[in-house]
Amino acid sequence: MKILHDLTLNELKSEMESLALKMPRYRAEQIFEWLTNYASFEEMTNIPIELRETLINNYIAKPVQIEKELISKDGTRKFLFSLSDGNTVEGVLMSYKYGNTICISTQCGCRMGCAFCATGIDGLARNLTAGEMLAEVLAVNKHIGGSKADRKITNIVLMGCGEPLDNYDNVIKFIKLISDKNGLNISQRNISLSTCGLADKIKKLADENLGITLTISLHASTDEQRKKIMKVAGAYSLKELFFAIKYYFEKTKRRIVFEYIELDMNTNPEDAKRIKELCKGLSYHFNLIPLNSTPKTNEIPALKPATKQKQSEFWENLKEQNISATTRRTLGSDIDGACGQLRRSTLNSKA
Ligand code: SAH
Ligand code: SF4
Repeated sequence: MKILHDLTLNELKSEMESLALKMPRYRAEQIFEWLTNYASFEEMTNIPIELRETLINNYIAKPVQIEKELISKDGTRKFLFSLSDGNTVEGVLMSYKYGNTICISTQCGCRMGCAFCATGIDGLARNLTAGEMLAEVLAVNKHIGGSKADRKITNIVLMGCGEPLDNYDNVIKFIKLISDKNGLNISQRNISLSTCGLADKIKKLADENLGITLTISLHASTDEQRKKIMKVAGAYSLKELFFAIKYYFEKTKRRIVFEYIELDMNTNPEDAKRIKELCKGLSYHFNLIPLNSTPKTNEIPALKPATKQKQSEFWENLKEQNISATTRRTLGSDIDGACGQLRRSTLNSKA
């Protein structure tokens, strides 16, 4: 069964024509509108019943279902989504004064194997299609009372399960679908993509001319440190990574955001100096993140967290170097807040 959310409006028009039903082209527009409102085929009341039946028999209208919802004390909501083949992924909704940001998944699992991350533990099950990513956003938009006309989701971060640049073509199509004026029409400026640093794909992304923000999971200031916790550091050195980041910056002029887990090994005064040197020529910001512990994190010496004292000294060191940095609130830490943890705890309880 095909997922209709995978299609652009023009593709949907051709698809409907291929059904050889005598159907005026505006039907595709009506269906596209219903899909954007995350309606089921049964709900598409202005579509003739005969066509609705053909759709029911051949296509999936809702490729993502909200299987579980956990609401944190701070209001952050975490979703476990089930996909039509039974796989699950996670999403997180964060509400701010200016709007609602949804963090969505791009893959079931991940093959990058970062030592600190729960998503990567079992490797990659499969990529999400563009339509499944779109459906994560549309399902939650509807769930919180939004629609196409009254959009409740304002910002999107690709920071849930998976490495977005390892599912490149589907992610690019998703960004085009979600920012399409016929769809939810979310500005590309309000979309961030977080990557562990696939340098060749970062360069390719720069050439797409999208207005999105690039976020880099850096977590280290030397190759030696990085290799201890991120397999991808063996494939791309920091030199290659920063060459690609600078290319992205030159092309887009968008401020680069870095994610940096504060560990004992990467928060020394020399780290702040090295960061300054690496980022020369960029406009950038650092998000300092406390390590969320997973079953594996306690076993790896390189993942010893920085003490509170060390964190505040590092903060001073960054300030001295004029590096803009904020410590990220640990949103929803009472609800398996970190990437991949809800999915894993559900997998474990099912096992
Ligand atoms: N694959 C992409 C996006 C998904 S991971 C990436 O790596 O950037 C989203 C973010 O969660 C990344 O910054 C990642 O480094 C961080 N993360 C994963 N596990 C974590 C943990 N246990 N504690 C803190 N941050 C974690
Ligand atoms: Fe994959 Fe990102 Fe987790 Fe690394 S941190 S294993 S790249 S999801």
